[in-house]
Amino acid sequence: MEKIQVKARAKINLTLDVLGKRPDGYHEVETIMQTIELHDVVVLEEAEHGIDVTASNPLLPGGESNIAYRAARLMMDEFGIKKGIRIRIDKNIPVAAGLAGGSADAAAVMKGLNRLWGLGLSQEDLLTKGALLGSDVPFCIRGGTALARGRGEIIHSLPDVPEIWLVLVKPSLEVSTAEIYKNFRPERVTRRPDTRAMINALQTGDLRRIIENLANVLESVTLERYPAVLQLKRVMEESGLPMPLMSGSGPSVFGIAEDRVAAEKAAERLKAQMPGVFVEVSRMYPAEQQEFREKR
Ligand code: ATP
Repeated sequence: MEKIQVKARAKINLTLDVLGKRPDGYHEVETIMQTIELHDVVVLEEAEHGIDVTASNPLLPGGESNIAYRAARLMMDEFGIKKGIRIRIDKNIPVAAGLAGGSADAAAVMKGLNRLWGLGLSQEDLLTKGALLGSDVPFCIRGGTALARGRGEIIHSLPDVPEIWLVLVKPSLEVSTAEIYKNFRPERVTRRPDTRAMINALQTGDLRRIIENLANVLESVTLERYPAVLQLKRVMEESGLPMPLMSGSGPSVFGIAEDRVAAEKAAERLKAQMPGVFVEVSRMYPAEQQEFREKR
């Protein structure tokens, strides 16, 4: 096998709580993360030598600045691999959006190379190595529904949820995760998640309770600094999506719909109101069994 194609799926945060600041400068978080269907396609092809990354989105950095490059470097150094790899990223996940697009690509590269070269790393090994690249990488390796703690890299898998449809909107602005955490002030938080209650709601599949328990403390920073995101939440609510929530540090906002038809209707309305803005119907996606397509 010389070529492999891997789907790199985005995530949303159904809850996100900040528990405090750590001595290492990071924040201690507790968050329920959920894989969604929206994905980049990462194609890995063996080459003579070196690592070459190209992406369909010309705004993405190339070379070492691309996290997919760093993921390949990590794997190749670990195993002393002398061959090269060409990485092509078909980018569908909006960038710097709170959807872990870069982390998903890194996870796809690690999983893909493990298979392409038969490196024999277990999922646990991949999770440990993935954490070196970024806090969201371990979740992207595991996928499905999970409770994450620490910097987000300590993952406890939760049972898969039933099919739940949502509408995802990425306003036309980019938000730096570092900027949002730096400006986080616990005293400004007005609504914290009840993580236990959300886990119970997910386990029973009670859509109303799932929606009621959506909460993200980082909204206290992003909505204040970027009023357009607050405005977007209002517009989404008016389009029939109750209690829309920002994902991660934003600026993407998702709203859970009753079913696929309701999601499509709401998305149509939003597209008409906000031409040119990224509006996508998606659904929650289970932990991945097999996401590879091998090519010869
Ligand atoms: P998270 O939710 O994990 O904080 P995000 O969705 O907010 O991530 P990304 O899309 O992962 O953010 O991008 C964050 C930064 O990483 C961007 O500034 C981007 O230029 C850089 N980057 C490097 N490699 C990639 C990649 N393969 N895909 C997307 N962004 C990348």
